[in-house]
Order: sequence, then structure tokens, then C-alpha cells
Amino acid sequence: MTRTSRLPGFYKVSVDERRALVSEATGVGVDDVARSLEAGGLDEETADKFVENVIGTYGLPYGVALNVRVNGRDYVVPMVVEEPSVVAAASNAARMIREGGGFRAEADAPLMTAQVQLTDVKDRDGARARIEAAKKAILELADGALAGLVERGGGARDLEVRALGDDDEGMLVVHVYVDCRDAMGANLVNGMAERIAPNLAELAGGRIGLRILSNLCDRRCVRVTCRVPVDALKTEEQDGAEVADGIVRASRFAELDPYRAATHNKGVMNGIDAVVIASGNDWRAVEAGAHAFAARSGTYRPLAVWRHEGDFLVGRAELPLALGTVGGTLRVHPAARLSLRLLAVSGAQELAMVAASVGLASNLAAVRALATCGIQRGHMALHARSVALAAGAAGDEVERVAAMIVEARDITLEAAGKALGIIRSSGETRELAAWERVVE
Ligand code: NAD
Repeated sequence: MTRTSRLPGFYKVSVDERRALVSEATGVGVDDVARSLEAGGLDEETADKFVENVIGTYGLPYGVALNVRVNGRDYVVPMVVEEPSVVAAASNAARMIREGGGFRAEADAPLMTAQVQLTDVKDRDGARARIEAAKKAILELADGALAGLVERGGGARDLEVRALGDDDEGMLVVHVYVDCRDAMGANLVNGMAERIAPNLAELAGGRIGLRILSNLCDRRCVRVTCRVPVDALKTEEQDGAEVADGIVRASRFAELDPYRAATHNKGVMNGIDAVVIASGNDWRAVEAGAHAFAARSGTYRPLAVWRHEGDFLVGRAELPLALGTVGGTLRVHPAARLSLRLLAVSGAQELAMVAASVGLASNLAAVRALATCGIQRGHMALHARSVALAAGAAGDEVERVAAMIVEARDITLEAAGKALGIIRSSGETRELAAWERVVE
């Protein structure tokens, strides 16, 4: 079967029809899709086993990004997000990027960093030398605590000793780098760190401090690029080259200003977080790692940058992404399991490449809108539906109220309330005339 993520008109059909199209595009049975998403994808009994003090579950919309092609392969990408326009924007930008052949991505080996803090170390140079001399034995000890992972080809790979603070403080931190294969790896490396800490403390002649992973997993980065033909970027008002130059100016703004970079990166994370959540992964870990990485030079910088090169707009993103396709709770969460089936990724590295690509697409959509007509036009038109819902619209009233407040360029709860009142009191035939009077 040839997988495609190019499904024109997808947004116009009903939820059931979309499920059928996704089933056809991915080969996952339509009943499986429907069943996995019942009750928001998580039943109460399962939820009660995940966390403590459960009194219910909390639903979020589950959509799919289309047009995503990474390294020549098509993906229908599940996205879980509450913000209107994120899924549409990613799909739309991915379609432009597709015109240049799609995304090119690469992922580092899945190396997580464990940190073992040692305190009260009297002779830090001597301690460092003893630990480094015992490296082989320590890595073997670490592997002993990671037997299942070692069987699957992972395990401890290297070790580094870092002195923090001044000599009087007596602090050393040992980093152990662990190949976690397809697991996110937090539990794996935390357990390993606890196992090896007594040996490290003895070698250092110090006391055991913290033993935990670092979420700044900068040895587990993903890099993604795309080359968009400038023509694909054109709008009704501007040609493609002008739009590309505007996007480069937006990129430079983010490169020069942390205030802008924070919002620029929020746009990147709109796409990444939605995929991370849909695949059952830990988005707090991903967020912590991404922002720490963005600030690694001492100045907070953009995770994605854009350049105009010949007839192409070229985008490049890089960030650490610790994702799993096994472990944690993701195999027991029905909707997360479904996401992995729809994506049909071979493992964690491929998932990270897809997530980073969607992040780059989300960023392109945001900077393109900002550099042209502004973000509000598209965003608010989609936001109008949420406003209509908040005003109490139900069923087909939602689209009708949304259309009315968009047309009036007054996307507020108050306007939606008035529009709803008119729909309900006047019936369809007289509703537009009545609305026109309000708009005026
Ligand atoms: P985990 O504890 O479930 O470990 C993964 C398991 O999967 C291991 O037993 C491993 O042997 C097995 N496995 C099967 N097939 C594998 C394969 N192909 N590759 C690798 N392992 C394979 O999960 P984890 O990934 O160690 O930890 C993830 C969880 O830790 C997440 O729920 C996260 O929220 C949580 N956590 C995060 C932090 C943090 O980020 N700071 C801290 C603590 C816990």
C-alpha cells in the first residue's frame, strides 16, 4: 500500500468521513480508529492507574496534520491541541514545504544524560582522575542496571566528570550517557544513576547528592531542514520572493531578540507539543529541554531559522527531543497507541524527526502569516468557532454564529451572543437581515 498524507478536502467532510479517509491512507481499520478515540481515548479505569486521586479524564481535540513528507516518506500526523488553527496551519505549511520535496531530517543516537551529584569532595582533581580511570568498570556497572536495554542494543556509552562551583564547595557532577533505544529513558537512567552513585561517591571520597537525568539532552538532537520554492509562499497581495524576504526578516528579529525568540519558539512548539502529546510522550520534558537548548549560548535564541537562497526559502531547526515509542504509559493509552499505529514509525528517532518537522511547519505558518497579513485574520476566523461554542451555540449554530462574527470582524463573546440570539429568535430566513442591522 502506498501511504499518502495528501488528502485534499479533508477539512470539509464529517468526523466519520475523516476517520474513513485516515483509515484508507494508513491501513489502520476504521473501527480501530473509532474505538481508540472513544471517551477521549482514555477510559476512567485506565486513567485511575496512571495517576493519583483520579476523579475523571480531561478531553482535548485529536486532529491529524496532512501533507507531511519526511525523508521521502508520507505521514498522517496525529496532533492533540486545544488551540484553534494549529493543525490547519501545520498542514498548510507542510503542503508548501512538500512542493520543495518535503522535510529532510536526521536524529542523533538516542543518548540520555544521567547526572550524579557528589558533594564534600576534598580533592576534586584526584577524584576526577580516579573516576576516569575506573570508567570501564563504572559503565559495566551501569549496564548491569540496564540489562533489558542492553539486550535491545542500548546501554551506557560514555562518562564525563564536571567540576561545578569553586574548590571550597567540593562539588563534582558525573554525567553518564545512555543509549535508550526507543524509550524516552527517564526511568531507565534514573534507576541506573541510583545504582552507580555509591561507587562514584566512594571513588570520589565524597557524599551522594542528586541522581537524575538531565532534560537538557543535547546529545539527543534532531535536525530538520526544508527548501520551499518561493512561489509556493505567495499570497493574494504579495509575490513569493517578497514573502520569503519578510520571513527572513522575521527570523532575524528572533535571532536578535529573546523577546521575539520566545514567541517564535512557541510557534515551533505548537507543532511539536501536539505530536508529543498525541504520541503519549512527556511534553514537560520536551519543553524543558527545548528552551534550555535555545538558551545554551547564554542568550535565548530561536530553534528554527529561515534564509532566502536563490529561488528557495530554506528553513533549519535543531533541538533535543527525548521521545519514546515504548515505555512510560504510552503503550497503555489507547489514543497514544493509535497515534503510533497511524504514524507507523520504526522507533523513537523516526518519531522525533516527524515531530520536529511538524514544528518547523508550524513555525513557517506563523512567520509567513506575521510577515504578510498578520496572524489575526486566519487565527481569529478559526477561533470564532470556539467563541461561538462559548456563547452557547450548539450543532449547526456553531458554524453559523462563527461565520456571522467573522463577517462582522467582531470575534467577541458579546457579538457571538447577539448572533446566537438572532439565529434563535428569527429563524434562518430572517437571520441575515437581522444580523446586518446589528453589524451596521
Ligand atoms: P520505562 O520505565 O517504561 O522504561 C522503558 C522500558 O521499555 C524498559 O523496561 C525497557 O527495557 C523497555 N523496552 C522495550 N523495548 C524497548 C526498546 N526497543 N528500546 C528501549 N527500551 C525498550 O520508561 P522510560 O522511557 O525509562 O521513562 C519514561 C517515563 O519517565 C515517562 O513517563 C516520563 O514522564 C517519566 N519521567 C520523566 C522525568 C523527567 O523528564 N525529568 C523524570 C522521571 C520520570
